[in-house]
Amino acid sequence: MMKEIILEAVDYCFTNGIVKYNSQFVLTHAPICLSPFQIPEEVLDSIVALTPVYNELMVKVGNNRDFLQEHLKAVAKTDLFIKKLLDLLSETDTSHHLQISRNDFLLTDDNNSGLLIPKQVEFNTISNSFPYLSGKVYQLHQYMVKRLHCQGKLVKNDPLEGVVDAMGEVVTYYDVPNTYLLMVVQSQEQNLFDQRGIEYRLLDKYGIQTIRMTLEEVAEHGCIRKGHLVVNNRVIALTYFRAAYTPNDYTTNEAWNGRILIEKSSTIKCPSVGMQLAGAKKIQQVLAKPGIIEQFLPAELAREIRKNFAAIYELDEKVNSQTAFDLAMQSPHDYVLKPQREGGGNNLYGEEMVAALKGFNNAEKQAYILMERIKPPGETSILVVDKTAEEVKTVSEIGRYATCFYDGSIINFNRDIGYLVRTKSANQNEGGVCAGYACLNSQCVR
Ligand code: ADP
Ligand code: MG
Repeated sequence: MMKEIILEAVDYCFTNGIVKYNSQFVLTHAPICLSPFQIPEEVLDSIVALTPVYNELMVKVGNNRDFLQEHLKAVAKTDLFIKKLLDLLSETDTSHHLQISRNDFLLTDDNNSGLLIPKQVEFNTISNSFPYLSGKVYQLHQYMVKRLHCQGKLVKNDPLEGVVDAMGEVVTYYDVPNTYLLMVVQSQEQNLFDQRGIEYRLLDKYGIQTIRMTLEEVAEHGCIRKGHLVVNNRVIALTYFRAAYTPNDYTTNEAWNGRILIEKSSTIKCPSVGMQLAGAKKIQQVLAKPGIIEQFLPAELAREIRKNFAAIYELDEKVNSQTAFDLAMQSPHDYVLKPQREGGGNNLYGEEMVAALKGFNNAEKQAYILMERIKPPGETSILVVDKTAEEVKTVSEIGRYATCFYDGSIINFNRDIGYLVRTKSANQNEGGVCAGYACLNSQCVR
């Protein structure tokens, strides 16, 4: 019986495009969780209610060059990628930018009261994947729920619609006839189909065509004409980054030239370099300090979002009578050490963290932050990876997708557009789906 259901789920994936390339570039279904994550409705509502507040906070931070410079300058001494991005800040045209973000949370039951509290893992400002596949997995579960007789009500999800609407609206705002979307991509992309899903819906709903290019290709085929970014004679109203978040995307000078061309032009950037930097883990750590978010938000809203912050430190910081560094050395399993990187697989845990800490000099210490390890209670799930199912103890991470358009003077729109649930084996530290750690899921409320 179970075998039959798993086969049906896998067939549904292949039939409906819930697919990706594996690391050998063979087509496979995306890793999925067989049935939805159960979340208390009030917890879900509380996360959704915070989306516009987080959006506003992050847009203000991302537009505040002095703030970004001040808090990232020590990082930039040893982290050359951050240094290059900071240098770009002074060259970029910041008249407007689109934000397509995802705010990730893990749920904890800190005092064993049975009440779950969402704790923020991080606010992602660049290259957020799965707006297409997460909606498809919701549809898979709509179908599976009937087969599995799940309890609870499945929560509708179609973040792709919100992504495409935001793109369509800002292209209209750009107000130049016959413009294109430029999707900046990596040359080898396992998660290609999630990106293609955006292209097709954007064309279908708004008649806007997409040009896919690597940063190197932008440098080769692009120029600036009357302020506009033009590639192969086509004006680009909106540049959407699904690459450019990792130093691996800048192995040549040409790649940097492509990025600089985009930044200097008036194309609407998604995100701007300022927003990309606002998503740095160092900035998250600074925002968690007392009094900082209060500079950006009314006190009452600041109080609300602070409830969701996990403890997060710089390594030299005094925590009671010792430093954060000492805390991590004493109880490595209660902390995560994070460099300024995106895309999964960069954080350090346990013994690996201890070894790294021992090797740091003073300057290197500044480039990392230390975060309290969030420990969700966990659940049992059936994970299906490469057609093989396994029942395991899991934890689930809830992300809220949002869009926000800053037109140079005001926030033009600010919306919550849906969710991503990733479920992973409880003994797995990292959370990325394409990095091979987690399975796509949906959620149901009880
Ligand atoms: P990245 O930018 O590489 O995605 P994240 O900070 O989001 O880095 O961390 C990657 C994954 O590691 C998360 O998706 C989550 O599963 C896990 N993780 C990160 N921070 C914590 C934490 N404080 N406690 C528990 N797990 C964490
Ligand atoms: Mg992340």
